[in-house]
Amino acid sequence: MTMMKSMSGKVLTARGPVEPSSLGRVLMHEHLHCDMYNWAMQTFIEKEAPASPERRAYLLKEAVPHLKACHAHDCHAYCDVTMPPWRCWPDLYREVAEAADFHIIVATGFYREVEVGTYWVKKPEHRMWPTAISAPLEALVEFCSKEILEGIRGSPLRAGVIKLGTSASEMTELEKKTFRIGARAQKATGVHITTHCTRLGAETSQLKILDQEGVDLRRVVIGHTAWHLSDPACRKVCLDWMKRGANFLPTNLGIPTKDPDGKQWEGLIAGIHRVFDAGHGDKLVFGLDSG
Ligand SMILES: [Zn+2]
Repeated sequence: MTMMKSMSGKVLTARGPVEPSSLGRVLMHEHLHCDMYNWAMQTFIEKEAPASPERRAYLLKEAVPHLKACHAHDCHAYCDVTMPPWRCWPDLYREVAEAADFHIIVATGFYREVEVGTYWVKKPEHRMWPTAISAPLEALVEFCSKEILEGIRGSPLRAGVIKLGTSASEMTELEKKTFRIGARAQKATGVHITTHCTRLGAETSQLKILDQEGVDLRRVVIGHTAWHLSDPACRKVCLDWMKRGANFLPTNLGIPTKDPDGKQWEGLIAGIHRVFDAGHGDKLVFGLDSG
């Protein structure tokens, strides 16, 4: 695999492979676009398609100034963790990256199984991307690996991260399938895995299955862990996983940005201090996700 060898140590971005040193600070969990439901048509979106001219113009107008502003903070890159089929069409990531002179690391992978009757899910067949439900595991490993090694939807833009997610502390059968797929695609390509992990205990079910599949846990980022790191008992569990190499990503999801007394932030900040005190500060990465 000569191609993989020459890419070793490089980061795959919307503008091609780059040296890690050119990224500066990296926001590790953001979304340029996440289109799960067509509210005007009242239909679930299950196929990726190029953005409409209006959507394109809107994203360029709204997102580019924010990305440009990040340069002043030595931040030149972010991981876009919207997965198929709800992410942008590949050329739009490239256009935004070029307009803002920014590095965007685009995701392949799968979202969690969503309970029927919540959010946009009105029918059981929409509780996850229908392709993820129906296609065989091996075909989906091939799909994710191809998006990383060759390109997304026939374009030369290669995914640079695998997104996975679960709902509860214990995974559903479908979520187990997606974690096995993600693990195998990770091992075939070397890119990192980043997760949606909002419940206490889910960090362990996620890491256990990735570990069983033989993934190097240093290539895993467990996401949305503000709650986990604020909770003393769960923080202890997280620290044990950090000793084994896993990384944790607190985001501001569920943490009010305008909390008048700052109490929830205090818990998270104290949790972050405790992780540094324990000598594992290098296992923390950061992102905002929720504005
Ligand atoms: Zn997110």
